[in-house]
Amino acid sequence: MILKIRAVGEPVLRARAKPMQSEEILLPSTRELIAAMRETLRDAPGVGLAAPQIGLPLQLAVVEDREENMKDLTREVLTERERKPVPFHVIINPVLTLESVAEVEFFEGCLSLPGLMALVPRARKVKVECLDEHGQPKVIRGSGWYARILQHEIDHLLGTLYVDRMRSVSLCTLENFSRHWKGKPISEVKRLLP
Ligand code: ZN
Repeated sequence: MILKIRAVGEPVLRARAKPMQSEEILLPSTRELIAAMRETLRDAPGVGLAAPQIGLPLQLAVVEDREENMKDLTREVLTERERKPVPFHVIINPVLTLESVAEVEFFEGCLSLPGLMALVPRARKVKVECLDEHGQPKVIRGSGWYARILQHEIDHLLGTLYVDRMRSVSLCTLENFSRHWKGKPISEVKRLLP
């Protein structure tokens, strides 16, 4: 089932989501919710979807970065972004630790702010302690683009959107991103921005 993705302005996107109890995680309805979120993410398409984005104030998000998402990107772009495929997985009640002080900036978008992108500084390495879809504790270490996805999705669970962290002068439509910035190294983008 494809779920309706909530757009910026919906209060649920600005609320702190509630942690899930073990019994709740194991309910058949939660399994069905996760399956529907996976279908919605692939349909969008996107690389992450948090429960508040489909109107549920729960600390649950799904992440997946498929090889086919990368087919239009050059090797240079993939290398610069440290972007590699990430298998589908679920994060519940995550606790995020930034493991690098160095911040990296790339253009980022969000399914809840359709048609827009901006440069967002993020930590390059993170640790996430969370539960999986079976309620089992796990520790994820992510770097590069995957670390960015994790930070973006965990922000959603705290009511934060990328526009709160973006370099605001870089905000652009997808069309203008393609026209002016696509394919340029980030060092050049930063040099050309006012
Ligand atoms: Zn988002």
